[in-house]
Amino acid sequence: MSGLLLFLQYAVNLAFVILGLLTLRDWLVHRERSRGYLALAIGLLAITALIGQVQTFFGNPFGEAGTDVDALVFLASAYAMLLFRSSFIPLSRRGHLLALGGLALAGALFIGANLPQRPEAQLSVFQQAVVIVFVLAWAACVGEPLFRFLQASQSRPAVQRARLRSLAAGYLSIFLILLVAAFGGSLATHPYVVLAIDLAALASVPLIYASFAPPSWLRRLWREPEESAFAAAVKELLLFSPTRERLAERAVEWALRLVGADAAFIADADGEVLAARGMDAGAARRLQARLGAFGEEQVVPVPDGPIQSAIVVPLTLADGNGALVVLSGPFTPIFGTDEVTRLGQYGTNITAGLDRAVLTERIAALERTKTEFLNLASHELRGPITVLRGYLSMLQGGMLGSVSPEFGEVLPVLTAKSDEMNSLIEQMIEAARLEEGRLELSPVRADLRDIALRALETVKPFATSSHPVLFEGQEKEIPVLVDRRRIETVVSNLLSNAIKYSPDGGEVRISFGQDNGFALLKVTDRGVGIDPKSMEKLFTRFGRIVTPSTRHISGTGLGLYLSRELARRHGGDITAESAPGKGSTFVLTVPVADE
Ligand code: ADP
Repeated sequence: MSGLLLFLQYAVNLAFVILGLLTLRDWLVHRERSRGYLALAIGLLAITALIGQVQTFFGNPFGEAGTDVDALVFLASAYAMLLFRSSFIPLSRRGHLLALGGLALAGALFIGANLPQRPEAQLSVFQQAVVIVFVLAWAACVGEPLFRFLQASQSRPAVQRARLRSLAAGYLSIFLILLVAAFGGSLATHPYVVLAIDLAALASVPLIYASFAPPSWLRRLWREPEESAFAAAVKELLLFSPTRERLAERAVEWALRLVGADAAFIADADGEVLAARGMDAGAARRLQARLGAFGEEQVVPVPDGPIQSAIVVPLTLADGNGALVVLSGPFTPIFGTDEVTRLGQYGTNITAGLDRAVLTERIAALERTKTEFLNLASHELRGPITVLRGYLSMLQGGMLGSVSPEFGEVLPVLTAKSDEMNSLIEQMIEAARLEEGRLELSPVRADLRDIALRALETVKPFATSSHPVLFEGQEKEIPVLVDRRRIETVVSNLLSNAIKYSPDGGEVRISFGQDNGFALLKVTDRGVGIDPKSMEKLFTRFGRIVTPSTRHISGTGLGLYLSRELARRHGGDITAESAPGKGSTFVLTVPVADE
């Protein structure tokens, strides 16, 4: 057992010395202030281990002076830890003075107490008090930063959180070792306790190492909890394209979370900052101007300023080159090739998303123009058509004198055509109202059969003998709560379509039904029918299905779109079933009125 313990003792000390050298190398490579302090804290711990090793190995060659120096170096390591903390969570002057005072007092007491060399020796009360002060001073200077780190880690991205937690866990184990060694009394010398202490000390080394230089596999592991959420975010980025700014904001947030960075921004092709996180847009713009353009993603040092390095990912947008820039902060593990590749891939998605958003914005602008045109044109047409219809009705009523028999013959055609034009204009006005959210319903209690009969009246002029309309009415009233005029328009739309799209004639049937609190109105025709592939186009705005058999039939593609929207506004719907060449059935559902 004692051989094993001795071996473990060597291993622990060696591990600490290696850790010290690694932190030193890390600092030499990256030359950052905060890393320097961490290197100092861990390096001093390593020196403590080294002195302890030399003392035991060579049988105490420096005697008490060796132990005193060891203790002072140990205390200094605690102060270095405090400096590390202060490099990114600044500590007040008073805090520094207090810590220095406490540590100096502990050091002086330690030297004055002449502690015995052998661990099993009995301590006087004064010596015990000195040990307590010593451990408390060290623990306060190390514990406070660790507490801060743990606190800070909570609101940090997964990678930073893991890094801070691993540092805290590493130091916590040293802290526990110290407590057991100082206050464990005879227990501390028990072989199993010594074994546990040595193992804990050994375990703390990789934990501390991982906190300042995590290998790429570990960083990948840390990122893992974010990965599935990230995949969903990427999908969203590609599928839903709101404005470019919104998209950029989300993209920046994820880039930041992904690598545990502190700040990030996306610059557009013209150099404008689309979104920034962790820094304001002005600072981002200045940095972007200084960084310039890069051909491919890479890590770039940012020498002045609190931020140390940046990953710049060029975004090859349709309008030119933009960039995603991700900046490291004090909590960020050093960026490696893994992060660069990951962000490079992410950059491709962002580029696709941003370009797609441009298209969506352009389409939305086109849609707006369409609506504006619809609105303008329909209102401009309404005046003249009203005048025309007025005169036509006066002519028909004989109020403008008698007309020639020839003109008398064409008069009904003129009236029918002007009515058709009028209903088209009304459709356009309704569609514009709907788009602009100005459409309001005035529901009243009505009989659906009644509404259907009135609608039938309006399409009568088009229902020639080749299009007999069968009204399969039922005895009982079908009470519905609807905007009468609107539902009448919907039904007449369905009826006129049934007639229009049966160019070779065929009966049109209106029937009724009820289903689960809804009243059903079915319009069935034996017309051209609709190809299943075209069904989804049926209810879209301006959606027309043009086939050789319907090419000659005029229309706007607004009727069904409006009808379904109106039905839905009532809480109902319109569905369609069709067989090409055989005919179609359109079903309107509206809620039944309460008795
Ligand atoms: P419009 O009739 O003015 O073109 P609609 O919105 O009323 O616009 O109809 C959209 C398209 O749906 C029409 O262009 C037509 O191709 C198809 N359609 C509508 N009703 C029928 C029907 N009863 N039978 C076959 N096709 C129809």
